[in-house]
Amino acid sequence: MGDVGGTQVVVAGAGPAGLATALLLARGGVPCQVLEAAGSPGEAAGPHSGGPRAGQPYVYSGFFRRRLMERLPDVYADLLDQGAQTFDTDGAPEEPSPYGDLAGREGKAVQGDRLSLTCSGTVVTAALARALAAEPLARVRHGDRVRGLRTEGDRITGVRLTGETVEASTVVDALGRSSPLAPDFTVTVDEVDCGVTHSTRLYRTDPADGPSAIAGRMIKFQGEAFSARVLPQGPDTFAVTFRYLAGDQVLERLTTPEGFSRALRFLPGIGDRLATAVPAGAIISGIDPPLLLRCLDDQAPVGYLPVGDALCAVDVESGSGAALALEGATCVARALTAPVDGAPDASFGAFANGLLRHTYERSARRSIVRTRLWEAAVTAMEPVARSGPNARLPTRAAMASALLL
Ligand SMILES: Cc1cc2nc3c(=O)[nH]c(=O)nc-3n(C[C@H](O)[C@H](O)[C@H](O)COP(=O)(O)OP(=O)(O)OC[C@H]3O[C@@H](n4cnc5c(N)ncnc54)[C@H](O)[C@@H]3O)c2cc1C
Repeated sequence: MGDVGGTQVVVAGAGPAGLATALLLARGGVPCQVLEAAGSPGEAAGPHSGGPRAGQPYVYSGFFRRRLMERLPDVYADLLDQGAQTFDTDGAPEEPSPYGDLAGREGKAVQGDRLSLTCSGTVVTAALARALAAEPLARVRHGDRVRGLRTEGDRITGVRLTGETVEASTVVDALGRSSPLAPDFTVTVDEVDCGVTHSTRLYRTDPADGPSAIAGRMIKFQGEAFSARVLPQGPDTFAVTFRYLAGDQVLERLTTPEGFSRALRFLPGIGDRLATAVPAGAIISGIDPPLLLRCLDDQAPVGYLPVGDALCAVDVESGSGAALALEGATCVARALTAPVDGAPDASFGAFANGLLRHTYERSARRSIVRTRLWEAAVTAMEPVARSGPNARLPTRAAMASALLL
């Protein structure tokens, strides 16, 4: 397995990036072996230790949806069968990007790109895994933790697992942000911890109440020191996610059912809707991981190809993480299925220095500004600021009294 024309390809990690790479490789005629630490497909699929929890609602940009339809149409169809919902983005103008925009605007709008996709984070990984299972040229091994690479000179000769080394000459590092390979073979260009926490809860409405007011669209709210979004997750299910600063002593009440229910009353138009909705499952809270941008070290061995979060992790709310993973997977697979003089990195380099870097920088800039604004809002709640000549009662104060009473 994983041996074509003298090249043995190992894809390390079975998250979205690894699965998409393996699928595109296998369909392009390149055998590959996928090594995944989790014991089963159900346990895998982790963007961070432990993986996305079942109820975590994901947004996939219109760009991701279009690329998936073009490159893996069967996976896209499977997603819709599994209940993934499309919704219209608000169409707000974006800064133009010289490299094309992950929201798909690319100077001129691409037909259909405003239609984004939403479903639980595990649904996309499961659909990719199902498609890969049917590919004879790909083999997935679960329960194999990658420890490092075996190299000779500037060449890769194998992948080290516990007590075993798998022969390999090309290794796609799709091990996510905590990849044990990346520290040795990449340089960290930038890392930003915005200190943001999220709390999410799923709600179910009774179909007898008629079509949901939020079906087919995402509703976003900007509060002072917090944001909230309401996302359809199925015909009668929607998810509400609050984001706020970690350590915010007022808003951390959102981790409790009572605090969450009280805060919902402050979302215009949603409070009424919730009169007929019932919570489905517990509140999922967690810290958003830092943003991270890496580049290949000059000393990296030939054939080491990082993709997905191992290379670049953007703000989780941007809806671009999976899109960058799919784009990287496509570049790697294209290069390995049609190498030019044995050099598989031309289109990948263009992607990494263009779209990927631009998307990261924009995401980092927005996240930093958001955190600064939220910190300022929290500071404005201090007694001195409140009693000054420009004192006003911010929305946050209303949130505070509702949550702390
Ligand atoms: C809370 C949260 C919400 C998010 N929301 C969105 C969203 O709405 N939209 C979006 O596009 N993106 C979102 N993201 C980001 C998205 O999840 C990532 O960009 C995407 O999962 C990256 O895919 P990946 O395959 O590179 O890495 P991962 O998903 O991290 O997959 C890595 C895989 O490698 C395996 N692995 C790790 N170490 C080893 C090892 N040593 N040996 C073998 N296997 C190993 C892991 O088990 C895992 O299966 C979110 C992330 C988080 C944390």
